[in-house]
Amino acid sequence: MTTTMVTITTTEWRELAACRDSEPSLFFPIGSTGPAIDQIAAAKEICLGCSVAEDCLQYALESNQESGVWGGYAEDERRRLRKRWLAERRRRAG
Ligand code: SF4
Repeated sequence: MTTTMVTITTTEWRELAACRDSEPSLFFPIGSTGPAIDQIAAAKEICLGCSVAEDCLQYALESNQESGVWGGYAEDERRRLRKRWLAERRRRAG
């Protein structure tokens, strides 16, 4: 049996993004209150069905994307996640 390994580079995952044809304001709402709450929820719903969510989140963490929803995480959630991610990276580097 042959196993095919698919390597997704930082640009290739964007081609498979579930949000490609979505309204950008869902993923980059202004603020985090009022209508932005519904926009963020709608964006996260799209992320749930996205096959490249892990690549998207990894990219956002590595490039320190401060705005918008990436990989199913809103700005405040991703800030907390990035702190843990950086701590884990420092720990691994020794
Ligand atoms: S995880 Fe969400 S923001 Fe990232 S590519 Fe997929 S749909 Fe877009």
